Amino acid sequence: MNVASRMSCADTSMSPSSDTIRPVESPPPAAVAKRRVLIVEDEAPIRELVRLHLTLDGFDVTEVGDGSRALELARGTRFDLIVLDVMLPAIDGISLCRALRTEGANTNASILMLTARDTESDKVLGLESGADDYLTKPFGVRELVARARALLRRPRQPAGAASSDAADPPLTIHGIEIDPARRRVRVEGRDVDLTDQEFRLLHLLATHAGIVFSREALLSKIWRGDTFVTVRSVDTLVKRLRRRIESDPANPRFLLTVWGVGYKFADV
Ligand code: CA
Repeated sequence: MNVASRMSCADTSMSPSSDTIRPVESPPPAAVAKRRVLIVEDEAPIRELVRLHLTLDGFDVTEVGDGSRALELARGTRFDLIVLDVMLPAIDGISLCRALRTEGANTNASILMLTARDTESDKVLGLESGADDYLTKPFGVRELVARARALLRRPRQPAGAASSDAADPPLTIHGIEIDPARRRVRVEGRDVDLTDQEFRLLHLLATHAGIVFSREALLSKIWRGDTFVTVRSVDTLVKRLRRRIESDPANPRFLLTVWGVGYKFADV
């Protein structure tokens, strides 16, 4: 997979003429079939395109075109996933996201934000609005469906809940074996010793492959409330972890930088 092209999103620009008709190739996985999705997007062509592809992928889709209608609906109806545009009439996506997280039936729903510019992407993550992931427009619908599936593959951990990674099952991703119970990591068959922080960073990113984490989000998840660290500590920890797991730390294959935003583990 060409990771660089995926990260730019430029090659998969959304265009109704090229993408409207064709469904995603793979059949919907049973695990996400009939999951409820709410699409909040005022641009009708994008909303319809997203609805079409999520419906084809087996989701039960509801769509609305403005923020206040979305808030009204989401107060009483529980959704597994909310696809939320940032620029909306009545209530903007970031305020809406915060409201959804604060009260109602969707405090724990997965939220995927759609942003128009990189500065908005920064805002979504930097302000900790409560979104789980975001896509920058223009995006490809296949990318959106893949992100939706990824978000729903694992239950969302409620905000502020203690990490339960020690009880998580072992996983193998891109030839890296991670055993949380034993705190053991093997990279392509070779044992690698990691500090507790390095292990937690690797486990967090690897269990959310393809999902971008801001430095602020990593800071709060890895250091858990320690006030004597800064976002630079995240960069330093990433460098250390790359030296342990990457064969060429200057050109990482697993632990990728998303420029101006943060870090992610290479998607599967
Ligand atoms: Ca919009």
